Amino acid sequence: MEFDNNERIVSPDFNSADSETEISLRPKTLNDYIGQEKAKENLKIYIEAAKNRGENLDHVLLYGPPGLGKTTLAGIIANEMGVQIRVTSGPAIEKPGDLAALLTNLNDGDVLFIDEIHRLSRAVEEVLYPAMEDNALDIIIGKGPSARSIRLDLPRFTLVGATTRAGQLSAPLRDRFGVILRLELYTTEQLSQIVQRSAGILEISMDKKGADEIASRSRGTPRIANRLLKRARDFAEVMDNGVVTEENAKIALSRMEIDKLGLDNIDRLLLTTMIRNYNGGPVGLETIAATIGEESVTIEDVYEPYLLQLGFIAKTPRGRVVTPLGYKHMNIDMPGQQTLEV
Ligand code: ADP
Repeated sequence: MEFDNNERIVSPDFNSADSETEISLRPKTLNDYIGQEKAKENLKIYIEAAKNRGENLDHVLLYGPPGLGKTTLAGIIANEMGVQIRVTSGPAIEKPGDLAALLTNLNDGDVLFIDEIHRLSRAVEEVLYPAMEDNALDIIIGKGPSARSIRLDLPRFTLVGATTRAGQLSAPLRDRFGVILRLELYTTEQLSQIVQRSAGILEISMDKKGADEIASRSRGTPRIANRLLKRARDFAEVMDNGVVTEENAKIALSRMEIDKLGLDNIDRLLLTTMIRNYNGGPVGLETIAATIGEESVTIEDVYEPYLLQLGFIAKTPRGRVVTPLGYKHMNIDMPGQQTLEV
């Protein structure tokens, strides 16, 4: 069975349905940015210290699952520092020359945001090292024995890199970030605040219980919460008087086949496959991926973080296992003698 992850209503990846509102919903200041208290507290201090010294902020690496607010935070950093932001991504920078062009076009103090920074090629990374360390660009002129290298000064800049997993980054690149911040999945309470804020901006009427209902099914992810809010509004407009309530949000979400914890068909397929085909595990990531027709990186970055947080699956040295809680959620009896080696 093949699924297109971009079609999933609970996919944390950006899709076309998000584009019209994503920009208006992005908080612009740290105070508007809900949750991630630890990251926010640290950033506040670093930003203030850098501003007091009249320096630019040290390079920042943000990591965590998609849709948690990495791009948003990069924008906030630029805004709080009072500088411009340039946004690009690892796969978009194909050649060292592409990066050199980006760097030389920055203004003093600017933020350069590179999403999916783990996907930079080696050759491009090599250009980044002296840029990050010495604000310099080393250019090779000529070929063969007569080739020589000249060094160009670059404007001072702050690199903000984002990645789904810090472990995917090469060590030399990771070491060059002064600030490394991990973003966590959000609590239901925080997501409820986020959807209430979004409803205000989008002029959607909603009561608190409606917000809580959407929040509890959003997999800890603001991008999903905002998307579910928009779909719930459609249902509320057609079924009721346009006010999103607990009742009509419940109906909307079950019509979208999202269960009360935010799991959709693919999550359930993943769990039942592990249970039915592999006795609940341990089973390797690649095997699961091949069986359900998904890429293993997608499973690792997109499905697993939430299933792990719920405690429905666990990682063991021999592979993934479905936990008793996972069996219970799927309404399947767990074989008696199974022991977990977590
Ligand atoms: P990422 O770059 O990690 O994939 P984004 O920064 O694009 O995620 O965030 C996706 C959407 O979620 C944004 O449009 C924003 O509206 C919302 N969002 C993310 N984090 C927060 C937050 N802390 N508070 C309010 N909204 C948020």
